[in-house]
Order: sequence, then C-alpha cells, then structure tokens
Amino acid sequence: MQRTQAGWTPPGPGRDADRERGRMATAEPSPRQQFLAFLHEDADTLSAEIFARFFAYRPAARAMFPANMVEHRAVFMDVLVYVVRSIDDPDAEPAMMAFLSQLGRDHRKFGATTEDYSAFRKSMAMVISQRLGHRRTPEVDKLLLLLVRATTELMNAGAAKDTGPAFVEATVVEHIRATRDHAVIRLQADAPVPYRAGQYLSVRTTLGSWRYFSPTIPPNPGGQIEFLVRTVPGGDVSGPVVAGTRVGDRWRLGAAHGSMQVDRDAGGDVLMVAGGSGVAPMRSIIVDMARFGENPRVHLFYGARHPGDLTELPTLWRLSITNPWLTVVPVSEEAEDPWWLAGADNRYEPGMHSRQTGTLADVVTSYGAWSDRRVLVCGSPKMVEATVDRLLAAGTPPGNIAFDPY
Ligand SMILES: Cc1cc2nc3c(=O)[nH]c(=O)nc-3n(C[C@H](O)[C@H](O)[C@H](O)COP(=O)(O)OP(=O)(O)OC[C@H]3O[C@@H](n4cnc5c(N)ncnc54)[C@H](O)[C@@H]3O)c2cc1C
Repeated sequence: MQRTQAGWTPPGPGRDADRERGRMATAEPSPRQQFLAFLHEDADTLSAEIFARFFAYRPAARAMFPANMVEHRAVFMDVLVYVVRSIDDPDAEPAMMAFLSQLGRDHRKFGATTEDYSAFRKSMAMVISQRLGHRRTPEVDKLLLLLVRATTELMNAGAAKDTGPAFVEATVVEHIRATRDHAVIRLQADAPVPYRAGQYLSVRTTLGSWRYFSPTIPPNPGGQIEFLVRTVPGGDVSGPVVAGTRVGDRWRLGAAHGSMQVDRDAGGDVLMVAGGSGVAPMRSIIVDMARFGENPRVHLFYGARHPGDLTELPTLWRLSITNPWLTVVPVSEEAEDPWWLAGADNRYEPGMHSRQTGTLADVVTSYGAWSDRRVLVCGSPKMVEATVDRLLAAGTPPGNIAFDPY
C-alpha cells in the first residue's frame, strides 16, 4: 500500500510501532525509544525554542512562516519523530530520505537558503542537546547528530538538486462557481508548469498561504491549468478561494508532489475511487490517457455527499462515451439534493451509469474485492481511510492500492 502524499505530513511511522512498543514493555528502553519519549515529552516548548533560536539567528526568515506557528510546529515535531523512527532502519530509511529531499524542494518556494539550513541546524542541535541534559549518552548524541543532519542536509540537498524555478506565476482567467461549495479556477501560467497528470501542486493564492491543489488537466506547453476547489467549512483558504477568486488574480504554483499515476505499460486494469475534489487528479490522469487509443480498463467511482455535488460528472460522462475503456459510476451518500442545490441534478443524462446511493466504501466493496485491479483512492482523509480499510477487508492486496488523502 502506498500513500503517495509527500508534502508536509510525514508518511506514517517509519518503524514498526508495535515492535517498538513490545520491546519497550519488556526491556530497558533503547536510545531511540528514550529519544522518542523526549521528543513527545514537551513537544510544544521544544519546537517553540528551536524556532525562537532560529529566528534570532535569521530574523528575515520569520517572514517565510505563518503568523500563527502552532500547527506548523506540530507538523515539524511529527517530522522529527518520523525521522528518528526511520534512522538506520533499512525498510524505512530510503522513504524518509526521499520525503526530506522532496520537502527541501518544496521549501524553495519560501526562498530558504543554505545559510537558513545551517542556522536551523545549529538551533536544533543547541536546543535539543541543552534540553536533553543528563539524558545525553554517546548513543543518544549519535541519534541527535543523525537527526539534525538528516533534516537539514537532506532538505538542502533536495532543494539544490532542483534547478528549475521555485514557482511559476499564473493569472486567473476564469472562475466558475459550480455549486455553493465548489469552484473551478482556470489559470494561465507565465510558463509551462512542470508536473505529471495525477500529481498535486503547492499553490499560493492571493491570500498568501500555501495549500495543495491538484490540477484537473494534464500539463501542457501552453501553461493552461485548472483546479477544482471545495470549501472546507471554517478553512482559511478554500472558502475565500471558492467565493472570492477574481479574474486577474495572481497565484504562485510551486513544486509538484505525489506519485499517483496509471502506468500504461505495467498492464492490469484500474479501479479509481474519488471523493469530492479528490476527482481532480483522476480526471487529469483520464484526460491524459484519452490521448491514446488503447488503454487499460478504468472503472471510476466518483462520489460526493449529494448528487448535485458531482460537478465533474458531465465531463467524465462525455469522456466515457468516446473512450470505451472508461466506466464512470456516480455515487452519492444522500439520495436527494437539499433545496439549495436544486437544479444541480440536471447533470444526469440518459445512458449514464445509474447513480448509487451510499458511501464510496460501501458501494465500491459491494462489487467485490477488485483484487485484480490497480487501485487509486483520493479524497478527504476520512473517505480515504474508510475506503482503503474496506478494500483491504474485502481482500484487495495492499500492494495494489495507492492513495492520496486530502
Ligand atoms: C495532496 C493534497 C491535494 C489536495 N488537492 C486539493 C484539490 O485539488 N482541491 C481542493 O479543494 N482541496 C485540495 N486539498 C486540500 C487543500 O490543500 C486544503 O487542505 C483545503 O482546501 C483546506 O484548506 P483551508 O485553508 O480552507 O483550511 P485550513 O484553514 O487549513 O483548515 C481548517 C480546518 O479544516 C480541517 N481541514 C483541512 N483540510 C481539510 C480537508 N481536506 N477535509 C476536511 N477537513 C480539513 C483542518 O484540520 C482544520 O481543522 C488537497 C490536499 C492535499 C493534502
């Protein structure tokens, strides 16, 4: 099973957590366990001190970070825990190194320099060793050294490897309010945007904060790009983007991430499960595949809360008419639209696969295990977790599943 997300959130425990817990219960804690316990002990103060020290060394770097650092510091501590768990673990270390390298590439958009990495390295080493105090041993010090080097040097090296521009500027040329909660945003970039169909981009809107959005169309030399954005209630960026984006707004499009794709040469048919705006990368992959006459069979379950939320259905339906390898099954949790979505249901056309009612997890697994398919899942974390769990329970081999939680 492959979680393709490679942005800020580390991709899950690097080390077998149960194995660690078992060892902890029976024997003296290992240096790694002591270090992990220390990181968990007072994570908030530790991260606050590291960043305070860093900003004292590099005052100009403060502008790279959000005004409210609480969430950022929490994610930073998750990264430290992930790295410590993965160090010297042959199963986990390569993924950890790739993750940090990609994180470094992503940080180019903030303008992070080698001097910043070196100041951060110094800040981490000083604050952590001071706070470890009497718990320092040669083994713990070795872990600290590896942690500090991994986080700063691998990120800096990852950034240095990427020689293209850190971001491409783009102008909003169209904003379509598809429903109350969804908008399609089309942009004309100043230069072609480097990504692969199925990947997502780090995007900075006029609101100033960076978020991930997945293009709904494949890359093209003209630099045209389109996103489908859904309002997350209470969110800082998504709601204002859906409601307030204006033609002429300038956005920044940063590094591409993610490895969700259909390898046409690998053979085997494909099951796609997309919830809400999670349809964006699937649509991009399908549009890309439509360039070829022959393709693996693709079965797409496209789900949302209400029938009228399935804003991409007409496009996908038309694609399925002209591409016989594609089957699109609409799914909605509710059978009827609420009154404020009334009229949106006119997306349903005669001949379309009849809409199924239920959660994506229920509907998809009601057809069996799909054990012969390569499976791509994308949508909200809750939808992805439920769908992946149910597929595994139904007998889908874990190695066949790739997913991107939004
Ligand atoms: C790999 C990836 C690709 C993505 N692609 C798209 C895309 O193509 N289109 C799109 O609309 N969005 C996409 N997202 C989600 C997007 O990046 C933002 O997370 C989302 O728009 C919320 O941002 P916000 O500033 O409005 O909310 P925030 O202010 O960041 O968060 C507000 C609250 O909502 C919660 N929250 C944040 N995101 C979600 C979510 N997705 N579901 C439920 N609760 C959430 C937070 O935990 C917080 O409590 C993607 C996310 C990832 C990780």
